[in-house]
Amino acid sequence: MSDCIFCRIARGDLPSNKVYEDEEFLAFKDIHPQAPVHILIIPKKHISTLAEASAEDVPLLGRMLELAPRIAREHGAEEGFRTIINTGRHGGQEVYHLHLHILGGQPLPAMLKH
Ligand code: AMP
Ligand code: ZN
Repeated sequence: MSDCIFCRIARGDLPSNKVYEDEEFLAFKDIHPQAPVHILIIPKKHISTLAEASAEDVPLLGRMLELAPRIAREHGAEEGFRTIINTGRHGGQEVYHLHLHILGGQPLPAMLKH
């Protein structure tokens, strides 16, 4: 998706504060951090929402979850973290390219939008 902001970041057409990259994923700091550690992991493949993911995306989603603790640990969330995927309008999704929020670096309130 050429005009998708996270696809543009994944291609390197837009700058990001990148913390991790491999063939399938990119992780970068959220531009409006909601906690001392706030990182987004995105698949380079454009999937607009979790609800649009298909059975063929299951291994990719599994690897994205596997990556999360490693990135959290390496970037200051050693004591635990929260993962969030906002999905659709009622889920508060703002960017329609699937992304996993990693939040941590301090105890988090019981409820948090992101
Ligand atoms: P949501 O779609 O509600 O799960 O969240 C989208 C997140 O992307 C928000 O937390 C934004 O602060 C973040 N965001 C939007 N644009 C950028 C950007 N260019 N670089 C880093 N984070 C971004
Ligand atoms: Zn995209």
